[in-house]
Parts: sequence; C-alpha cells; structure tokens
Amino acid sequence: MQQWETESPAQTRAIGKDFAKTLSPGAVVALTGDLGCGKTAFVQGVMEYFGDSAQVVSPTFTLVNEYDGTLPVYHFDVYRLENPLPEQCDWMDDYLFGDGVCLIEWAENVRAVLPKDTIWIRFAKNPARGEDYREITQC
Ligand code: ADP
Ligand code: MG
Repeated sequence: MQQWETESPAQTRAIGKDFAKTLSPGAVVALTGDLGCGKTAFVQGVMEYFGDSAQVVSPTFTLVNEYDGTLPVYHFDVYRLENPLPEQCDWMDDYLFGDGVCLIEWAENVRAVLPKDTIWIRFAKNPARGEDYREITQC
C-alpha cells in the first residue's frame, strides 16, 4: 500500500505525474472516490508525464477520451454506468486488453470486467484537515 497527502490541485497533479513513471503499456488504473476528490486532477498529472498537452477533462458524456502521448492513454469516466450488464461493458475490452494505459474514474462500477492486475487508487477528502486536503491511497 502506498499513500500520498495533498493540499492543492497542483500537488495532486504532481503526484499523478510521478506515479505515471511506474506505468507500462497495458496498465489499467482504477480511480475511486467521490465527486471532487481529485481523480481528474490526478489524470491531468499522468498526462503531463506522457506528454499530450491536450486539455484533460472528465469524459462524463463520452465515457472515454483518448490521448496520444508517448503511449496511448485512455481516460474513462464510467459514473453513468451504474450496475451495468456485462454486455454494456464489452466495448471496453479493446482498451483494457490493448497496449495503452487505461485510467478509469468510478471504476468500482465496472469492477467485474477489469483485469486481475488492475491498480486500484482511492481518493478521499478529510474535512478535519481542511477543504483542499485529499488522501490518495494505492491498494
Ligand atoms: P473528480 O474527478 O474526483 O471529480 P476533479 O479533479 O475533477 O475531481 O476536481 C477536484 C476539485 O477539487 C477541483 O475543483 C479542485 O480545484 C478541487 N481541489 C481542492 N483541493 C484539491 C486537491 N488537493 N487535489 C485535487 N483537487 C482539489
Ligand atoms: Mg472526474
């Protein structure tokens, strides 16, 4: 288990950028935690590392955004796929078992279709530590 603490979006991006160094082709990273906990900020940092300067925003309506850096990166937000039927996730397989890196916001919604070696990262606030405090835990 690895844990990071952050007190600003910039710090969260820096953590994502540093974490990205550990990723190789085919990696699947599951990001969990409530709205506003910094999942997208973390992905922005990952993309700083992989070098696509495109604006990284949550793909809430498209479900997946594709970035083209030194590796292909697929950024999912499956918030709207609550309790999906397995066949509603079939389209994800080409990404999940391909050679790019997958980063999946709200991954708990599609847990059943994720590879066994998925890397799980949990984002949480802690109001007692201030409004901008976030705890990031890799399980
Ligand atoms: P999510 O994708 O989990 O919904 P976002 O990254 O889109 O979260 O948004 C995080 C929100 O929280 C932004 O409005 C950001 O400005 C704010 N914020 C405050 N502190 C932090 C922090 N330490 N890390 C990331 N975001 C933070
Ligand atoms: Mg988001």
